[in-house]
Amino acid sequence: MDNGFRDLPSVDKLLSEARLGRLLESCPRPLVVDLVRGCLEQARRSLADGAPCPTTEELVTAVCAEAGSLMTTTLRPVINASGVILHTNLGRAPLSKETMAAMDAASRGYCNLEFELDSGRRGSRQTHVEKLLCRLTGAEAALAVNNNAAAVLLALTALAKRKEVIVSRSQAVEIGGGFRIPDVMRQSGAKLVEVGTTNCTYLKDYQEAIGPRTAALMRVHASNFKLTGFTHTVSLEELVALGKRCDLPVFDDVGSGCLLDVTRFGLEAEPTIPQSISLGANLVLSSADKLMGGPQAGIIVGDGELINRLKKHPLQRAARIDKVRLAGLIATLIHYLKGEAEAKVPIWRMISAPLTEIEERAGRWAEAIGGSARVVEGETMVGGGSLPGGTLPTWLVAVGEEGRRKPPQLARRLGQQLSAREVPVIGRISGQVLFLDPRSVLPEEDGLVIKALRESALSLGLSR
Ligand SMILES: *Cc1c(COP(=O)(O)O)cnc(C)c1O
Repeated sequence: MDNGFRDLPSVDKLLSEARLGRLLESCPRPLVVDLVRGCLEQARRSLADGAPCPTTEELVTAVCAEAGSLMTTTLRPVINASGVILHTNLGRAPLSKETMAAMDAASRGYCNLEFELDSGRRGSRQTHVEKLLCRLTGAEAALAVNNNAAAVLLALTALAKRKEVIVSRSQAVEIGGGFRIPDVMRQSGAKLVEVGTTNCTYLKDYQEAIGPRTAALMRVHASNFKLTGFTHTVSLEELVALGKRCDLPVFDDVGSGCLLDVTRFGLEAEPTIPQSISLGANLVLSSADKLMGGPQAGIIVGDGELINRLKKHPLQRAARIDKVRLAGLIATLIHYLKGEAEAKVPIWRMISAPLTEIEERAGRWAEAIGGSARVVEGETMVGGGSLPGGTLPTWLVAVGEEGRRKPPQLARRLGQQLSAREVPVIGRISGQVLFLDPRSVLPEEDGLVIKALRESALSLGLSR
Protein backbone atom coordinates (compact mmCIF):
# COMPACT_ATOMS: atom_id res chain seq x y z
CA MET A 1 0.00 0.00 0.00
CA ASP A 2 2.04 2.90 -1.24
CA ASN A 3 -0.21 5.76 -2.12
CA GLY A 4 1.68 8.64 -0.62
CA PHE A 5 1.01 8.03 3.08
CA ARG A 6 4.72 7.62 3.69
CA ASP A 7 5.41 10.92 1.96
CA LEU A 8 3.39 12.85 4.55
CA PRO A 9 5.68 14.74 6.93
CA SER A 10 5.62 13.93 10.65
CA VAL A 11 4.04 16.25 13.22
CA ASP A 12 7.49 17.23 14.47
CA LYS A 13 8.77 17.91 10.98
CA LEU A 14 5.85 20.26 10.37
CA LEU A 15 6.28 22.01 13.71
CA SER A 16 9.88 22.77 12.82
CA GLU A 17 8.79 24.73 9.73
CA ALA A 18 9.58 28.44 10.03
CA ARG A 19 6.00 29.66 9.52
CA LEU A 20 4.67 27.39 12.22
CA GLY A 21 7.49 28.58 14.46
CA ARG A 22 6.13 32.11 14.01
CA LEU A 23 2.60 30.89 14.65
CA LEU A 24 3.81 29.36 17.94
CA GLU A 25 4.79 32.83 19.13
CA SER A 26 1.16 33.93 19.22
CA CYS A 27 -0.64 30.62 19.65
CA PRO A 28 -0.31 28.01 22.45
CA ARG A 29 1.67 24.93 21.47
CA PRO A 30 -1.05 22.34 22.28
CA LEU A 31 -3.44 24.19 19.95
CA VAL A 32 -0.90 24.28 17.10
CA VAL A 33 -0.07 20.59 17.60
CA ASP A 34 -3.76 19.80 17.50
CA LEU A 35 -4.23 21.77 14.28
CA VAL A 36 -1.22 20.03 12.69
CA ARG A 37 -2.66 16.63 13.61
CA GLY A 38 -6.02 17.68 12.21
CA CYS A 39 -4.49 18.75 8.89
CA LEU A 40 -2.48 15.53 8.60
CA GLU A 41 -5.60 13.52 9.33
CA GLN A 42 -7.45 15.45 6.63
CA ALA A 43 -4.59 14.76 4.20
CA ARG A 44 -4.72 11.03 4.97
CA ARG A 45 -8.44 10.97 4.24
CA SER A 46 -7.92 12.75 0.93
CA LEU A 47 -5.10 10.38 0.04
CA ALA A 48 -7.35 7.42 0.72
CA ASP A 49 -9.81 8.98 -1.72
CA GLY A 50 -7.08 9.11 -4.34
CA ALA A 51 -6.04 12.75 -4.02
CA PRO A 52 -2.35 13.62 -4.54
CA CYS A 53 -0.11 13.97 -1.51
CA PRO A 54 -0.01 17.59 -0.30
CA THR A 55 3.37 19.30 -0.06
CA THR A 56 4.75 20.41 3.29
CA GLU A 57 4.18 23.97 2.12
CA GLU A 58 0.49 23.26 1.51
CA LEU A 59 0.09 21.60 4.90
CA VAL A 60 1.71 24.55 6.67
CA THR A 61 -0.56 26.94 4.79
CA ALA A 62 -3.60 24.90 5.82
CA VAL A 63 -2.56 24.94 9.49
CA CYS A 64 -1.96 28.70 9.42
CA ALA A 65 -5.31 29.30 7.72
CA GLU A 66 -7.15 27.18 10.28
CA ALA A 67 -5.40 28.97 13.17
CA GLY A 68 -6.22 32.32 11.59
CA SER A 69 -9.90 31.54 11.20
CA LEU A 70 -10.14 30.20 14.76
CA MET A 71 -8.58 33.31 16.23
CA THR A 72 -10.58 35.83 14.23
CA THR A 73 -14.18 36.48 15.09
CA THR A 74 -16.64 35.62 12.39
CA LEU A 75 -19.07 38.17 13.83
CA ARG A 76 -18.38 41.36 11.88
CA PRO A 77 -19.92 44.78 11.43
CA VAL A 78 -21.77 45.19 8.13
CA ILE A 79 -23.42 48.13 6.44
CA ASN A 80 -27.12 47.49 5.95
CA ALA A 81 -28.04 48.95 2.58
CA SER A 82 -30.75 46.31 2.14
CA GLY A 83 -33.56 48.76 2.71
CA VAL A 84 -34.96 46.77 5.64
CA ILE A 85 -34.45 48.96 8.69
CA LEU A 86 -35.12 46.34 11.36
CA HIS A 87 -33.35 43.36 9.80
CA THR A 88 -33.38 40.49 12.29
CA ASN A 89 -30.54 38.70 10.46
CA LEU A 90 -28.43 41.85 10.64
CA GLY A 91 -29.01 42.42 14.34
CA ARG A 92 -32.16 44.60 14.39
CA ALA A 93 -31.85 48.12 15.82
CA PRO A 94 -28.54 50.00 15.63
CA LEU A 95 -27.96 51.99 18.82
CA SER A 96 -27.59 55.69 19.59
CA LYS A 97 -24.23 57.14 20.59
CA GLU A 98 -25.51 57.71 24.12
CA THR A 99 -26.71 54.09 24.30
CA MET A 100 -23.35 52.75 23.15
CA ALA A 101 -21.54 54.98 25.64
CA ALA A 102 -23.73 53.74 28.48
CA MET A 103 -23.10 50.12 27.50
CA ASP A 104 -19.39 50.77 27.24
CA ALA A 105 -19.34 52.36 30.70
CA ALA A 106 -21.29 49.48 32.23
CA SER A 107 -18.99 46.88 30.70
CA ARG A 108 -15.76 48.53 31.79
CA GLY A 109 -15.95 47.64 35.44
CA TYR A 110 -18.30 47.16 38.31
CA CYS A 111 -21.56 49.02 38.78
CA ASN A 112 -24.30 49.26 41.39
CA LEU A 113 -26.42 46.77 39.44
CA GLU A 114 -27.98 45.19 42.53
CA PHE A 115 -26.49 47.31 45.25
CA GLU A 116 -28.08 50.25 47.05
CA LEU A 117 -25.40 52.88 47.44
CA ASP A 118 -27.23 54.68 50.27
CA SER A 119 -27.84 51.73 52.55
CA GLY A 120 -25.16 49.34 51.34
CA ARG A 121 -27.88 46.71 51.00
CA ARG A 122 -28.66 44.37 48.17
CA GLY A 123 -30.94 45.98 45.58
CA SER A 124 -32.79 44.98 42.41
CA ARG A 125 -31.52 45.64 38.90
CA GLN A 126 -35.08 46.42 37.89
CA THR A 127 -35.20 49.59 40.02
CA HIS A 128 -32.88 51.30 37.50
CA VAL A 129 -35.36 50.94 34.66
CA GLU A 130 -38.80 50.50 36.23
CA LYS A 131 -39.57 54.14 36.97
CA LEU A 132 -38.59 55.14 33.42
CA LEU A 133 -40.73 52.45 31.84
CA CYS A 134 -43.71 53.37 34.02
CA ARG A 135 -43.42 57.05 33.16
CA LEU A 136 -43.11 56.40 29.44
CA THR A 137 -45.96 53.92 29.24
CA GLY A 138 -48.33 54.99 32.01
CA ALA A 139 -48.11 51.54 33.58
CA GLU A 140 -48.09 50.84 37.32
CA ALA A 141 -45.10 48.51 37.27
CA ALA A 142 -42.50 47.19 34.83
CA LEU A 143 -39.91 44.49 34.32
CA ALA A 144 -37.13 44.10 31.74
CA VAL A 145 -36.04 40.61 30.69
CA ASN A 146 -33.84 38.96 28.05
CA ASN A 147 -36.17 39.35 25.05
CA ASN A 148 -39.85 39.28 24.19
CA ALA A 149 -39.98 35.51 23.77
CA ALA A 150 -38.72 35.27 27.37
CA ALA A 151 -41.32 37.85 28.43
CA VAL A 152 -44.14 35.74 26.95
CA LEU A 153 -42.74 32.56 28.50
CA LEU A 154 -42.32 34.16 31.93
CA ALA A 155 -45.75 35.79 31.95
CA LEU A 156 -47.58 32.61 30.97
CA THR A 157 -45.53 30.33 33.22
CA ALA A 158 -46.01 32.54 36.26
CA LEU A 159 -49.66 33.38 35.64
CA ALA A 160 -51.24 30.63 33.56
CA LYS A 161 -49.40 27.34 34.09
CA ARG A 162 -51.80 24.36 34.04
CA LYS A 163 -54.55 26.77 33.12
CA GLU A 164 -55.97 28.06 29.86
CA VAL A 165 -55.18 31.16 27.84
CA ILE A 166 -57.59 32.20 25.14
CA VAL A 167 -56.14 33.57 21.91
CA SER A 168 -57.60 34.25 18.47
CA ARG A 169 -56.65 31.72 15.81
CA SER A 170 -55.50 34.58 13.55
CA GLN A 171 -52.99 35.60 16.21
CA ALA A 172 -51.31 32.22 16.73
CA VAL A 173 -48.47 33.45 14.55
CA GLU A 174 -44.98 32.47 13.48
CA ILE A 175 -42.57 35.32 14.08
CA GLY A 176 -39.79 34.16 11.75
CA GLY A 177 -36.99 31.63 11.72
CA GLY A 178 -39.60 28.91 12.30
CA PHE A 179 -40.29 30.40 15.73
CA ARG A 180 -43.95 30.19 16.65
CA ILE A 181 -45.74 32.10 19.37
CA PRO A 182 -48.04 29.15 20.19
CA ASP A 183 -44.97 26.93 20.72
CA VAL A 184 -43.44 29.46 23.11
CA MET A 185 -46.76 29.75 24.91
CA ARG A 186 -47.08 25.96 25.19
CA GLN A 187 -43.61 25.76 26.75
CA SER A 188 -45.04 27.64 29.71
CA GLY A 189 -47.36 24.78 30.53
CA ALA A 190 -50.39 26.93 29.78
CA LYS A 191 -53.02 25.45 27.53
CA LEU A 192 -53.64 27.57 24.50
CA VAL A 193 -57.27 27.75 23.57
CA GLU A 194 -57.51 29.06 20.01
CA VAL A 195 -60.83 30.61 19.13
CA GLY A 196 -62.44 31.90 15.95
CA THR A 197 -61.29 31.11 12.44
CA THR A 198 -58.23 32.20 10.49
CA ASN A 199 -59.90 35.36 9.23
CA CYS A 200 -62.72 36.06 11.70
CA THR A 201 -62.86 36.10 15.47
CA TYR A 202 -65.76 37.65 17.42
CA LEU A 203 -66.17 38.56 21.05
CA LYS A 204 -68.60 35.68 21.53
CA ASP A 205 -65.84 33.24 20.51
CA TYR A 206 -63.80 34.36 23.51
CA GLN A 207 -66.91 34.45 25.69
CA GLU A 208 -67.88 30.87 24.88
CA ALA A 209 -64.35 29.60 25.54
CA ILE A 210 -64.16 31.06 29.04
CA GLY A 211 -64.38 28.37 31.71
CA PRO A 212 -63.22 27.59 35.25
CA ARG A 213 -59.68 26.91 34.03
CA THR A 214 -59.27 30.16 32.09
CA ALA A 215 -56.36 32.25 33.40
CA ALA A 216 -56.19 35.07 30.84
CA LEU A 217 -57.28 36.49 27.51
CA MET A 218 -54.39 37.20 25.19
CA ARG A 219 -53.89 39.36 22.16
CA VAL A 220 -50.84 38.88 19.93
CA HIS A 221 -50.07 41.60 17.42
CA ALA A 222 -49.89 40.16 13.91
CA SER A 223 -46.60 41.91 13.48
CA ASN A 224 -45.28 40.40 10.27
CA PHE A 225 -48.30 39.76 8.09
CA LYS A 226 -51.53 41.40 7.13
CA LEU A 227 -55.02 39.99 7.11
CA THR A 228 -57.05 41.64 4.38
CA GLY A 229 -60.42 41.10 2.77
CA PHE A 230 -63.25 39.54 4.78
CA THR A 231 -61.89 39.72 8.30
CA HIS A 232 -62.99 40.49 11.82
CA THR A 233 -60.91 40.88 14.92
CA VAL A 234 -61.87 41.82 18.46
CA SER A 235 -60.49 45.16 19.60
CA LEU A 236 -58.42 45.49 22.74
CA GLU A 237 -61.19 47.62 24.30
CA GLU A 238 -63.72 44.84 23.82
CA LEU A 239 -61.31 42.25 25.18
CA VAL A 240 -60.58 44.41 28.24
CA ALA A 241 -64.31 44.89 28.90
CA LEU A 242 -64.87 41.13 28.67
CA GLY A 243 -61.90 40.51 30.96
CA LYS A 244 -63.35 42.92 33.53
CA ARG A 245 -66.76 41.24 33.41
CA CYS A 246 -65.23 37.81 33.92
CA ASP A 247 -62.46 38.87 36.28
CA LEU A 248 -59.72 37.78 33.87
CA PRO A 249 -56.53 39.67 33.03
CA VAL A 250 -55.77 40.65 29.42
CA PHE A 251 -52.21 40.13 28.13
CA ASP A 252 -51.20 42.11 25.07
CA ASP A 253 -48.10 41.06 23.11
CA VAL A 254 -47.58 44.19 21.02
CA GLY A 255 -44.34 42.91 19.49
CA SER A 256 -42.44 45.96 18.36
CA GLY A 257 -42.45 48.01 21.58
CA CYS A 258 -43.32 51.17 19.74
CA LEU A 259 -43.43 54.36 21.85
CA LEU A 260 -44.09 56.90 19.07
CA ASP A 261 -47.04 57.48 16.79
CA VAL A 262 -45.82 56.21 13.42
CA THR A 263 -48.71 57.66 11.41
CA ARG A 264 -46.96 61.01 11.21
CA PHE A 265 -44.29 59.36 9.07
CA GLY A 266 -46.97 58.17 6.67
CA LEU A 267 -46.94 54.67 8.11
CA GLU A 268 -49.96 52.63 9.13
CA ALA A 269 -50.77 52.79 12.84
CA GLU A 270 -48.78 50.35 14.95
CA PRO A 271 -49.99 49.55 18.49
CA THR A 272 -47.91 51.45 21.04
CA ILE A 273 -47.30 50.39 24.62
CA PRO A 274 -48.86 53.54 26.18
CA GLN A 275 -51.98 53.06 24.03
CA SER A 276 -52.35 49.49 25.13
CA ILE A 277 -51.95 50.45 28.79
CA SER A 278 -54.45 53.29 28.50
CA LEU A 279 -56.97 50.92 26.88
CA GLY A 280 -56.71 48.77 29.98
CA ALA A 281 -54.46 45.82 29.12
CA ASN A 282 -53.22 44.26 32.35
CA LEU A 283 -49.88 43.14 30.97
CA VAL A 284 -48.18 44.48 27.83
CA LEU A 285 -45.22 42.59 26.39
CA SER A 286 -42.76 43.71 23.75
CA SER A 287 -39.22 43.66 22.38
CA ALA A 288 -36.79 46.51 23.02
CA ASP A 289 -34.78 46.10 19.81
CA LYS A 290 -37.56 46.59 17.28
CA LEU A 291 -39.36 49.95 17.10
CA MET A 292 -38.12 50.91 20.57
CA GLY A 293 -34.72 51.09 18.89
CA GLY A 294 -32.70 49.81 21.84
CA PRO A 295 -30.58 46.76 22.66
CA GLN A 296 -32.10 43.27 22.76
CA ALA A 297 -34.48 42.97 25.70
CA GLY A 298 -38.03 42.06 26.55
CA ILE A 299 -40.26 44.63 28.22
CA ILE A 300 -43.22 43.75 30.43
CA VAL A 301 -45.37 46.55 31.86
CA GLY A 302 -48.74 46.48 33.57
CA ASP A 303 -50.58 45.91 36.85
CA GLY A 304 -48.38 46.01 39.93
CA GLU A 305 -49.86 42.84 41.37
CA LEU A 306 -49.16 40.80 38.22
CA ILE A 307 -45.67 42.22 37.68
CA ASN A 308 -44.86 41.40 41.31
CA ARG A 309 -45.71 37.76 40.73
CA LEU A 310 -43.41 37.76 37.67
CA LYS A 311 -40.58 39.35 39.63
CA LYS A 312 -40.77 36.58 42.25
CA HIS A 313 -40.96 33.69 39.82
CA PRO A 314 -37.81 31.52 39.50
CA LEU A 315 -37.95 31.76 35.70
CA GLN A 316 -37.35 35.50 36.03
CA ARG A 317 -33.82 34.66 37.07
CA ALA A 318 -33.32 32.51 33.99
CA ALA A 319 -34.65 35.25 31.73
CA ARG A 320 -32.98 38.21 33.35
CA ILE A 321 -31.33 41.05 31.50
CA ASP A 322 -27.58 41.64 31.90
CA LYS A 323 -25.98 44.86 33.13
CA VAL A 324 -24.70 45.96 29.73
CA ARG A 325 -28.02 45.81 27.93
CA LEU A 326 -29.80 47.22 30.95
CA ALA A 327 -27.51 50.27 30.75
CA GLY A 328 -28.25 50.57 27.01
CA LEU A 329 -31.98 50.19 27.49
CA ILE A 330 -32.02 52.98 30.08
CA ALA A 331 -30.04 55.32 27.80
CA THR A 332 -32.42 54.61 24.90
CA LEU A 333 -35.49 55.21 27.07
CA ILE A 334 -34.08 58.53 28.25
CA HIS A 335 -34.14 59.73 24.62
CA TYR A 336 -37.92 59.24 24.63
CA LEU A 337 -38.31 60.99 27.97
CA LYS A 338 -36.36 63.98 26.66
CA GLY A 339 -38.47 64.01 23.51
CA GLU A 340 -35.38 63.56 21.33
CA ALA A 341 -35.95 60.00 20.09
CA GLU A 342 -36.55 61.11 16.51
CA ALA A 343 -33.24 62.97 16.41
CA LYS A 344 -31.13 60.47 18.36
CA VAL A 345 -32.45 56.92 18.05
CA PRO A 346 -31.02 55.56 14.77
CA ILE A 347 -34.14 53.75 13.59
CA TRP A 348 -36.22 56.92 14.01
CA ARG A 349 -33.54 58.96 12.27
CA MET A 350 -33.84 56.53 9.35
CA ILE A 351 -37.63 56.48 9.37
CA SER A 352 -37.88 60.27 9.55
CA ALA A 353 -35.08 61.06 7.08
CA PRO A 354 -36.37 63.48 4.42
CA LEU A 355 -36.60 62.12 0.87
CA THR A 356 -34.56 64.97 -0.58
CA GLU A 357 -31.66 64.09 1.68
CA ILE A 358 -31.88 60.42 0.66
CA GLU A 359 -31.97 61.35 -3.02
CA GLU A 360 -28.86 63.43 -2.62
CA ARG A 361 -27.02 60.63 -0.82
CA ALA A 362 -28.14 58.07 -3.43
CA GLY A 363 -26.72 60.41 -6.07
CA ARG A 364 -23.34 60.42 -4.36
CA TRP A 365 -23.38 56.61 -4.01
CA ALA A 366 -24.24 56.19 -7.69
CA GLU A 367 -21.47 58.57 -8.67
CA ALA A 368 -18.99 56.48 -6.67
CA ILE A 369 -19.97 53.41 -8.71
CA GLY A 370 -20.14 55.34 -11.98
CA GLY A 371 -21.03 53.71 -15.30
CA SER A 372 -24.25 51.77 -15.13
CA ALA A 373 -25.40 52.88 -11.67
CA ARG A 374 -28.54 54.98 -11.53
CA VAL A 375 -30.88 56.42 -8.93
CA VAL A 376 -34.45 55.08 -8.95
CA GLU A 377 -37.53 55.44 -6.79
CA GLY A 378 -38.17 52.62 -4.34
CA GLU A 379 -39.48 51.59 -0.96
CA THR A 380 -37.82 50.96 2.39
CA MET A 381 -39.32 48.31 4.65
CA VAL A 382 -39.43 48.93 8.37
CA GLY A 383 -39.37 45.15 8.94
CA GLY A 384 -38.28 43.16 11.97
CA GLY A 385 -41.71 42.00 12.97
CA SER A 386 -43.25 45.43 12.90
CA LEU A 387 -45.51 47.31 10.53
CA PRO A 388 -46.47 44.50 8.18
CA GLY A 389 -46.55 46.00 4.72
CA GLY A 390 -45.35 49.26 6.20
CA THR A 391 -43.05 50.90 3.69
CA LEU A 392 -41.51 54.33 3.31
CA PRO A 393 -40.69 56.01 0.00
CA THR A 394 -36.99 56.11 -0.76
CA TRP A 395 -34.40 56.53 -3.52
CA LEU A 396 -32.34 53.49 -4.43
CA VAL A 397 -29.09 53.07 -6.28
CA ALA A 398 -29.60 50.41 -8.95
CA VAL A 399 -26.77 48.51 -10.63
CA GLY A 400 -27.44 46.16 -13.55
CA GLU A 401 -30.44 45.89 -15.82
CA GLU A 402 -33.65 43.98 -15.37
CA GLY A 403 -34.23 41.24 -17.92
CA ARG A 404 -30.85 41.70 -19.55
CA ARG A 405 -28.87 38.51 -19.80
CA LYS A 406 -25.51 40.19 -20.29
CA PRO A 407 -23.72 40.86 -18.10
CA PRO A 408 -25.87 38.41 -16.14
CA GLN A 409 -23.77 38.24 -13.04
CA LEU A 410 -23.02 41.90 -12.72
CA ALA A 411 -25.33 42.66 -9.82
CA ARG A 412 -24.52 39.47 -7.98
CA ARG A 413 -20.81 39.94 -8.48
CA LEU A 414 -20.94 43.45 -7.17
CA GLY A 415 -22.89 42.15 -4.19
CA GLN A 416 -20.24 39.54 -3.53
CA GLN A 417 -17.47 42.04 -4.01
CA LEU A 418 -19.15 44.23 -1.47
CA SER A 419 -19.58 41.34 0.97
CA ALA A 420 -15.93 40.38 0.78
CA ARG A 421 -14.84 43.83 1.90
CA GLU A 422 -13.55 44.79 5.29
CA VAL A 423 -16.96 46.23 6.13
CA PRO A 424 -19.34 44.37 3.83
CA VAL A 425 -22.12 46.39 2.27
CA ILE A 426 -25.31 44.33 2.12
CA GLY A 427 -27.72 45.24 -0.66
CA ARG A 428 -30.87 43.69 -2.06
CA ILE A 429 -30.83 41.75 -5.32
CA SER A 430 -33.95 41.55 -7.41
CA GLY A 431 -33.87 40.15 -10.92
CA GLN A 432 -30.37 40.93 -12.13
CA VAL A 433 -30.38 44.25 -10.38
CA LEU A 434 -28.56 45.16 -7.18
CA PHE A 435 -30.38 47.80 -5.15
CA LEU A 436 -28.75 49.83 -2.40
CA ASP A 437 -30.94 51.90 -0.07
CA PRO A 438 -29.35 54.86 1.76
CA ARG A 439 -32.34 55.10 4.13
CA SER A 440 -31.22 52.06 6.17
CA VAL A 441 -27.69 53.46 6.43
CA LEU A 442 -26.81 56.30 8.81
CA PRO A 443 -25.38 59.34 6.97
CA GLU A 444 -22.22 59.16 9.09
CA GLU A 445 -21.46 55.79 7.43
CA ASP A 446 -21.59 57.27 3.93
CA GLY A 447 -17.82 57.78 3.80
CA LEU A 448 -17.29 54.04 4.31
CA VAL A 449 -19.98 53.11 1.80
CA ILE A 450 -18.64 55.41 -0.88
CA LYS A 451 -15.12 54.10 -0.43
CA ALA A 452 -16.38 50.51 -0.67
CA LEU A 453 -18.48 51.25 -3.75
CA ARG A 454 -15.67 53.07 -5.51
CA GLU A 455 -13.17 50.26 -4.90
CA SER A 456 -15.56 47.49 -5.87
CA ALA A 457 -16.63 49.29 -9.03
CA LEU A 458 -13.01 49.87 -9.98
CA SER A 459 -12.05 46.25 -9.46
CA LEU A 460 -14.97 45.13 -11.61
CA GLY A 461 -14.26 47.71 -14.26
CA LEU A 462 -17.74 49.19 -13.91
CA SER A 463 -16.81 52.78 -13.41
CA ARG A 464 -15.74 53.48 -16.98
C1 LIG B 1 -40.81 39.81 17.52
C2 LIG B 1 -41.96 39.32 18.29
C3 LIG B 1 -41.79 38.47 19.39
C4 LIG B 1 -40.43 37.96 19.79
O1 LIG B 1 -39.63 38.95 20.29
P1 LIG B 1 -38.06 38.71 20.54
O2 LIG B 1 -37.63 39.97 21.19
O3 LIG B 1 -37.47 38.45 19.22
O4 LIG B 1 -37.95 37.54 21.45
C5 LIG B 1 -42.89 38.07 20.08
N1 LIG B 1 -44.13 38.50 19.72
C6 LIG B 1 -44.34 39.31 18.68
C7 LIG B 1 -45.73 39.73 18.33
C8 LIG B 1 -43.26 39.76 17.92
O5 LIG B 1 -43.45 40.57 16.89
